Amino acid sequence: MSFFASVEMAPGDPILGLTEAFVADPRPGKINLGVGIYCDEQGKIPLMKAVRDVEQTLAKAENPRGYLPINGLKAYNELTQQLLFGADSPLLAEGRVATAQTIGGSAALRVAADLLKQTAGAGAGAKIAISNPSWGNHHVVFRTAGFELLEYRYYDKGTHGLDFAGMLEDLGKLEPGTVVLLHACCHNPTGVDLDAAQWQQAIELMKERKLLPFVDAAYQGFDKGLDADATAIRLLAASGIEAFVVANSYSKSFSLYGERVGAISMVGRDRDEAARVLSRIKTTIRSIYSSPAAHGAYLVAGVLGNPELRASWEEELGGMRTRIHEMRAGLVDGLAEAGLPQFDFINRQAGMFSYSGLSKAQVERLREDFAIYALTSGRICVAALNRANLDAVVAAIAAVS
Ligand code: PMP
Repeated sequence: MSFFASVEMAPGDPILGLTEAFVADPRPGKINLGVGIYCDEQGKIPLMKAVRDVEQTLAKAENPRGYLPINGLKAYNELTQQLLFGADSPLLAEGRVATAQTIGGSAALRVAADLLKQTAGAGAGAKIAISNPSWGNHHVVFRTAGFELLEYRYYDKGTHGLDFAGMLEDLGKLEPGTVVLLHACCHNPTGVDLDAAQWQQAIELMKERKLLPFVDAAYQGFDKGLDADATAIRLLAASGIEAFVVANSYSKSFSLYGERVGAISMVGRDRDEAARVLSRIKTTIRSIYSSPAAHGAYLVAGVLGNPELRASWEEELGGMRTRIHEMRAGLVDGLAEAGLPQFDFINRQAGMFSYSGLSKAQVERLREDFAIYALTSGRICVAALNRANLDAVVAAIAAVS
């Protein structure tokens, strides 16, 4: 009998499964609003100009392909810290941040999860509170790392906005030492974020309750701008809270999905604590994939470390942000013209996604009757809309509403 005879088929990933169905759909004019990828006006994943410039320089340099250090490229880590915490952050001057390049934001989450499970702070009874709803992989990563999963209220179906009172009430009940997973901005899947005053209140509560804030920053630069989208991180840094964690991803902001560029940053109370934490981050990485991939890190560091390329990148990122806002507004206006003014809440949501409020049955009709693909939760990717497909999406939503 084969060693694997009793292995059962794993359930398919709902988002990737949807993409497979989309690819197999023969209907012309099909539209995929399911996946979390930014597409340009032509419906393509952009290759950013600054990235292309660095890539061409790298190709000419014909560098040898040695290993990166376990925690990745030094310049990449330093530039990442500056982008997240601000170049003049006292935390950086005090050496309180331990940062390691990771394989996308996903590995940042997993490395941190494994590490937190082992450390005394979280202990054997490691618990994490995740917003309801959240990106599905959050649950998978922390459950697999051995965490007990808890939920805090977040999305208010009635207002299509934030249930802030519910969120505070739930955070207030958590045991000290519980990790709290937060989305820095552009909450996936809802597009509903906290404002600065709400962050301040939530941070004070987490500090008082001795919770460990864990910020997932996968969309910095996609809502208001690089600094504004780091408000949660900057307020945490200023709050006097001794420890918090930031996992970040450049997949979207550099349009480098397949290069797997991310980082984990853990803030400790002082330089000595950060150094000990960094040593643990390294042993964790060593045990999973030994060291990160080099190419994407050279691209990101090459752009961020060069003032001209960085300016070009920021401009292009700004253009992507503007396009998303225009598509949001276009969708809301189009639906209002079609007699559906109730969708105006979509303008208040931020980033690539919107919880459209469409029911499972409506999403199924969109797919079956109009070849428009969205998640059954009603999540649509606003960044996949463009001038060529907007009218068709508006007409289809109007038809199923
Ligand atoms: N966190 C969130 C909230 C995300 O949406 C994503 C990507 N979909 C990630 C983390 C993971 O990013 P990466 O693709 O860089 O692993």
